[in-house]
Amino acid sequence: MPQFNEKLSEIYEEVLKRNAGEGEFHQAVHEVLESLGPVLAKRPEFVHGKIIQRICEPERQIIFRVPWLDDKGDVQINRGFRVEFNSSLGPYKGGLRFHPSVNLGIIKFLGFEQIFKNSLTGMPIGGGKGGSDFDPKGRSENEIMRFCQSFMTELYRHLGEYTDVPAGDIGVGGREIGFLFGQYKRITNRYESGVLTGKGLSWGGSLVRTEATGYGCAYFVREMLKTRKDSIEGKTCVVSGSGNVAIYTIEKITELGGTCVACSDSNGVIYDGKGLDLDLIKKIKEVDRGRIAEYAEHHKHAKYIAGGNIWEIPCEVALPSATQNELNGKDARALVKNGCIAVGEGANMPTTPEGVKVFQESGVAYGPSKAANAGGVATSALEMQQNASRDSWSFEFTEQKLEQIMMGIHQACYETSEEYGAPGNYVMGANITGFMKVANAMVAHGLI
Ligand code: GLU
Repeated sequence: MPQFNEKLSEIYEEVLKRNAGEGEFHQAVHEVLESLGPVLAKRPEFVHGKIIQRICEPERQIIFRVPWLDDKGDVQINRGFRVEFNSSLGPYKGGLRFHPSVNLGIIKFLGFEQIFKNSLTGMPIGGGKGGSDFDPKGRSENEIMRFCQSFMTELYRHLGEYTDVPAGDIGVGGREIGFLFGQYKRITNRYESGVLTGKGLSWGGSLVRTEATGYGCAYFVREMLKTRKDSIEGKTCVVSGSGNVAIYTIEKITELGGTCVACSDSNGVIYDGKGLDLDLIKKIKEVDRGRIAEYAEHHKHAKYIAGGNIWEIPCEVALPSATQNELNGKDARALVKNGCIAVGEGANMPTTPEGVKVFQESGVAYGPSKAANAGGVATSALEMQQNASRDSWSFEFTEQKLEQIMMGIHQACYETSEEYGAPGNYVMGANITGFMKVANAMVAHGLI
């Protein structure tokens, strides 16, 4: 593991002091800073310009009250966030997360990661993230709509096709983007397609956006295995989660010849040794918005493990696609012991620092989230491109672009890892490649 030099330690200490109590944000910053020692040694202007200190400080942070009426007529109050982190490469871009665990530190870690991820895509997008501590679980469609409308009634003034372009994340999918877009359109009296991505296909959305994060992650794993003269074909895979990212990771991994034997939700794990029945998972999660336990009611041979730990299931490829810090050091050791050779992160920062260390020291091909899950936001940028030209592309054409982008990200990360003397260290490769482009743009733009 690379060590901090004195300069980086000083910067990190300052980040800790200025952002007390924001553990996930500290973790995300630490991981990036750990990669940057050799870069600072080569580029003194980054030190003089305090580029790292500036990157760690969001350009703008918005926190607002979101009042709404539930179905009983009771007043509910949630907190809304939008952290506009860095706009040196384009308008702020990043999803909205609706989950009870959301707080400023979570949004800042996600926004910070998004800066480098978006840079890696090669598309003209800056980094941002937003959301709310609103819990959509058990809420009616009307409640969701009223919440989204109230949320947008404040947020709209900060958005714009050239300013800030949100999308979905945990708890925000096509339905929520629809309600948010409707309210934006109503307040502004503008049909500004490019202000949100993840839209419905009949009103400005892009084909492949729904599938993009999962497909992209599968492509990234395929590319990592290729460097080792190996492939996904015939591999046993485990995918945590069962939301959008997990579903389309399973779909593409299966298409590439792998067998996904397990997935999960926050209540438990489904194990199906014959390979998961994806149509059933789609019906349970996408249509009925139900729980993954229902899978075992339809397939008697499958096993539901309430409260189980998915990482104890032996596999060759692990695809954490649920949430941050879902895979710790102990889990990583169990995976390695059971023969895991590759990890592709569909979720954002799903592996703890100790887990990452275990994978790297064991020679596992480890694809960190900011590289492996960049396909989602990359396809959002393709959606923006189509909106700007009032065009819409075919599924095949769009998917080809996604595949090219993911192969490009993999190659850039790999080459950077080689250049810096750590071939195959995708953490270092992704951090340095993502950082360089942002830092160069910041130097060019002067002290702002
Ligand atoms: N929330 C997704 C991510 O973590 C997508 C963001 C977007 O499409 O703007 O990258």
